[in-house]
Amino acid sequence: MEVLLPHSLEEALAIKGERPEATPIAGGTDLMVDLNFGRLRPAAMIDLSRVAELASWQQEDGHVFLGAGLTYATIVKEMPEFKPLVQASRSVGSPQIRNRGTVGGNLGTASPAGDALPVLAAYDADVVLRSRARGERSLAWHAFLTGPKKTAIAPDELIIGTRWRRLRGPGSFSKIGTRNAMVISVAGLCLVVDEENGAVKVALGSVGPTILRATEAEQQIAAAMTSSGAWQDSSITITEQVIDEFGSLVAAAAKPLDDVRGTAAYRRHGCRVLARRALIWALNERRLPAWL
Ligand SMILES: Cc1cc2nc3c(=O)[nH]c(=O)nc-3n(C[C@H](O)[C@H](O)[C@H](O)COP(=O)(O)OP(=O)(O)OC[C@H]3O[C@@H](n4cnc5c(N)ncnc54)[C@H](O)[C@@H]3O)c2cc1C
Repeated sequence: MEVLLPHSLEEALAIKGERPEATPIAGGTDLMVDLNFGRLRPAAMIDLSRVAELASWQQEDGHVFLGAGLTYATIVKEMPEFKPLVQASRSVGSPQIRNRGTVGGNLGTASPAGDALPVLAAYDADVVLRSRARGERSLAWHAFLTGPKKTAIAPDELIIGTRWRRLRGPGSFSKIGTRNAMVISVAGLCLVVDEENGAVKVALGSVGPTILRATEAEQQIAAAMTSSGAWQDSSITITEQVIDEFGSLVAAAAKPLDDVRGTAAYRRHGCRVLARRALIWALNERRLPAWL
């Protein structure tokens, strides 16, 4: 097997253009598992770990750009104000996996259990792709993630990163697994509040063929907060009945299957529990100025 070692993004894109069959490898925490189990034997790999341009993040014009090569450990260290992303990053694997694993790799694998993905979906993030021949394009997260382990990337493209509009408001990521660490999600949920637009966004992982948004639940809670005046006055209480209904609508948005990690019924129940908790945390946080 050939291993190609570009030292710049330009070089990486040139190699991908000339060798579209070559498989990119970032942290290798997904790819090397497939290689070690003999499920994959690419003729060539392009090691992106030396491409510094992919490993940075910036904020500009109210948007955040997160490079594909940013590791979970770097996110935890450098991006504390992006709490849901940090919570998801902290929940990935072990310290060794977080030191190597990247968000670009999570997107490239496109597993419904990828923990960064519900966060990107809740942020309404775009995935930025680039090829040497055609330049850059951005796809909405749901246009990029086309199915379980399937994406819309073209053979000569690389994932450059992901971009989203910065939101003002509280939020969280939480997941359910068989234990507290080093665990693949049985259900994962990201909830973010967009105070500017009076919106609550909820994305689910591990409970469908790909990441799902709970749009009916989003509309129900936004409407309840509008009619009660809670958007203007965060001290107004959202009733238990509204919170219950929200949990039920989030559970109804899941499309879970039975598998070795959990039954569909357990996953749906998990969504309800995660949704209720995330909403209560967000409502409580709105009463504190911590996120301002
Ligand atoms: C022990 C263990 C525990 C884990 N725990 C979790 C967990 O809790 N949560 C979770 O979500 N994941 C977990 N994972 C999976 C893995 O760590 C993540 O999916 C990680 O984000 C993969 O990133 P990577 O950089 O290592 O990707 P790689 O393995 O290098 O690549 C993964 C895929 O993405 C493609 N790719 C990577 N970068 C690019 C790019 N820039 N352009 C185009 N394609 C690209 C590769 O070709 C490949 O198809 C775990 C893995 C292990 C081994």
